[in-house]
Amino acid sequence: MRELISRPRRLRATAALRDLVAEARLDARMLVQPHFVVPGEGITEEISAMPGIEHQSVDRLLQTVESDLELGIRSVLLFGVPEPADKAPDGSSAFSDAAVVPKAVRALKDRFRHDLVVMTDVCLCAYTDHGHCGIIHDGRVDNDATLPQLANMALAHARAGADVVAPSDMMDGRVGAIRDALDDEDLCHVAIMSYAVKYASAYYGPFREAAHSAPAMGDRRSYQMDARNRREASLEAGLDVDEGADILMVKPALAYLDVVRDLAESFTQPLAVYNVSGEYSMVKAAAEKGWVDERAVVLENWHAFRRAGADIIITYHGRQALASGWL
Ligand SMILES: [Zn+2]
Repeated sequence: MRELISRPRRLRATAALRDLVAEARLDARMLVQPHFVVPGEGITEEISAMPGIEHQSVDRLLQTVESDLELGIRSVLLFGVPEPADKAPDGSSAFSDAAVVPKAVRALKDRFRHDLVVMTDVCLCAYTDHGHCGIIHDGRVDNDATLPQLANMALAHARAGADVVAPSDMMDGRVGAIRDALDDEDLCHVAIMSYAVKYASAYYGPFREAAHSAPAMGDRRSYQMDARNRREASLEAGLDVDEGADILMVKPALAYLDVVRDLAESFTQPLAVYNVSGEYSMVKAAAEKGWVDERAVVLENWHAFRRAGADIIITYHGRQALASGWL
């Protein structure tokens, strides 16, 4: 038999060797934990489709974030879940300074200052009575009429002290509209993480229970991307970069790793992936049935995100991973 020169198995012999040569690595500092914030006090309610994830009032959120910080999670992404009575056709309660997200931002920044990166989701769907991400005119989501609303929402979050605002609506031109509005108010230090590449996805199912944001009619395919398209992702990302996006995001993560790789190779901005609710709940459900090893599957997925080129992982599994010593 011919003598083998290259034997890749040599470097797989022990765990220490494998760790030494591993290409993709994970670090708690790259994780972002999402939170669903509700009005009121003393509220912690589990979201049934997302075991381990809760609706929380601001007072409880502070406690959760404090213990997460001790675990090493230094970044949060906030979603507001307003009372049904506060929903309106134009989503205007989204940009009140008294809304639940600005309140949560103020409380978090008061308590944790620069130790915590506070990111906020900017989209109208939780605040409109029809559940769409923009204003509806003549049965259509009106792109340009929605832009000032999104800018106002981002302003309310930025004035409250958010470090990063994250528009997720997929209207054309929203990053530029938000950047202009922030700069006009001397909020030029506030960064924009754009959900640049957000696909219309069945993986968002559990989130809609969490955010009470399912559209009352129709779906979001007229503004979110079509899952069949890859090149269009680079177009979307390029537009957002030109408009001033500081961080790009691909959402969902698992089924779109080709797109993550494309963006990692084409853009210099930090790249985030959103390991979405459906991805979380599928792993949870299979683990509960004993069909998969939860730790192993989560780490395999996260390493896949890193291998594809992601710098930041937004994930519901962050707290559990760190509390259980998975990293
Ligand atoms: Zn939305």
